[in-house]
Amino acid sequence: MVLARKIGSRYTANQVLGRGSAGTVWLGEGPEGPVAIKLLREELASDQELVGRFVQERAALLSLDHPHVVGVRDLVVDGNDLALVMDLIRGTDLRTRLDRERRLAPEAAVAIVADVADGLSAAHAAGIVHRDVKPENVLLDMQGELGPGGAHPALLTDFGVARLVDAPRHARATRVIGTPDYLAPEIIEGLPPRASVDVYALATVLYELLAGFTPFGGGHPGAILRRHVTETVAPLPGIPDDLWQLIVQCLAKGPASRLRAPELASRLRDLLPSLAGHPPLDIDEPEAASERPADGPAEPPPAEPREPARRRGAVPLVPGTVADSNRETHTSMRVPGPDELAGGAHGTARSPRAAGERRAGSARHRSAADIRARRLKLGAAALAAAVAAGVGGWFAVGGDDGGDAKPGVHGTSPTP
Ligand code: ADP
Ligand code: MG
Repeated sequence: MVLARKIGSRYTANQVLGRGSAGTVWLGEGPEGPVAIKLLREELASDQELVGRFVQERAALLSLDHPHVVGVRDLVVDGNDLALVMDLIRGTDLRTRLDRERRLAPEAAVAIVADVADGLSAAHAAGIVHRDVKPENVLLDMQGELGPGGAHPALLTDFGVARLVDAPRHARATRVIGTPDYLAPEIIEGLPPRASVDVYALATVLYELLAGFTPFGGGHPGAILRRHVTETVAPLPGIPDDLWQLIVQCLAKGPASRLRAPELASRLRDLLPSLAGHPPLDIDEPEAASERPADGPAEPPPAEPREPARRRGAVPLVPGTVADSNRETHTSMRVPGPDELAGGAHGTARSPRAAGERRAGSARHRSAADIRARRLKLGAAALAAAVAAGVGGWFAVGGDDGGDAKPGVHGTSPTP
């Protein structure tokens, strides 16, 4: 074909499968058959430091071999090319499915999330924290056997990629578009991400599959971060209680209170039989009710809104602003001022939850305005700390919650 291009000595890239933030994914051919090749963007590939880290990560990424992890087969550094050769998954990503269906039936949602929890268990056992669990990074294998609820097997992808590409010094160059919706509170408070941040993010995904929106998303990124730290998750009407308890436990503010990935996987699988035939939950879109009355229709506007609708989940973290180089974080987030942070307490909040109007979880906070104000100050302090530490930092490789990190597995520490 006209477009075919050599990647290293062993691979040929034939056709573009998709484009992502880190580069372009190609359908390719290798010695053992078809593969997917993620060719990193040129400015990333030409960065010696990044290439060095890439090579350092090689062994860990290659060794992660699990039916629910998209296998990395090779890392190719060749001239100007920096490429990740992966198993080819014929299907779609979970974001695409969610966009299409809006909400999944509990059985299918639980089956998918249990698959991902299995994949995470294997990674965590190897000392690898994913750090970027979200629907975009879950691929559904349409050629695999159908599981409970008619769900295709789910595989977690992009291990290590977020960590390689989202380094503070790259955040601005690549204008990384991220979402704070899945960030665990301890990351916001500047602690190094342990395995439990992946469990928090995965519980957020499960909530989103069931509800059609994330528990703390919507509005200004600073508001989202604050909710992670201060707010209680609002119950979903009609959700089976056992399932709800699992979600609540994995969204605990304290990492030690969350389930570990293997236990989450097995508890979810235990629930599957009881969920058979349960229809998708019947839930109002938050913004369709009271959040954005001035905007009129509930459909998202065609142009990029100043405040993206909550349902979308993903919020561009750099909405046309140039990041202050001293305040870069791995998400290149603009740092909200104290006024913005305190907005909810002064009646200028843009979301119903910040105003404490609709959500059961928020109503509890409203009854004690002084406590809330204090929490908001705490949130501001946490944000400052997170910025100082560079949110997410570089300590992606940790052990589990117990803190028994395995630095020997692969060294991604930022500075010696
Ligand atoms: P990024 O994470 O850099 O934003 P993605 O990993 O989401 O990019 O890749 C972009 C697109 O490429 C995805 O939407 C998906 O359709 C496709 N893709 C990625 N990895 C694979 C794979 N292993 N097999 C098949 N298609 C893939
Ligand atoms: Mg991705």
